[in-house]
Amino acid sequence: MAHIKINSVVKLYTLCLLNNGPKHGYEIIKELETRMDRNISASHIYPFLKSLQDNEFICCKEIEEREKKRYCLTKSGEEFIEVVFNKLGSLINTVIEKRLTTCPHCDCKIYEGGFIDLIKNKEKTFCCQHCAQAYKEKTVIIH
Ligand SMILES: [Zn+2]
Repeated sequence: MAHIKINSVVKLYTLCLLNNGPKHGYEIIKELETRMDRNISASHIYPFLKSLQDNEFICCKEIEEREKKRYCLTKSGEEFIEVVFNKLGSLINTVIEKRLTTCPHCDCKIYEGGFIDLIKNKEKTFCCQHCAQAYKEKTVIIH
């Protein structure tokens, strides 16, 4: 598993596509081009497919006779993808977590929107109007 680094969006997308079912090499390229809105050359994809194959994460087989070969995930390929996606999931969580603001009154996380109020000439974001009100009252009492 250590042999493969998923260090580009192209690679990640390729894994997603393979995860959706067996694919021809050119199908992968076409789908990547559509999804990423840029030209993808075979040289972007094939070395990666080859390394997946070398690690036995995918196999290449004819699903129907006289058809071109398609790449399919193997059992260990599925496990590999799961690890990659899990890592990605926690990465995304970290990014989202950083963008959250915390309501100064009740400590809940605010994903978007919120209620902005001026507290001593500074903008603060609350989860709701009531928290803003309660916070103001509290601040007034303290000071
Ligand atoms: Zn609140």
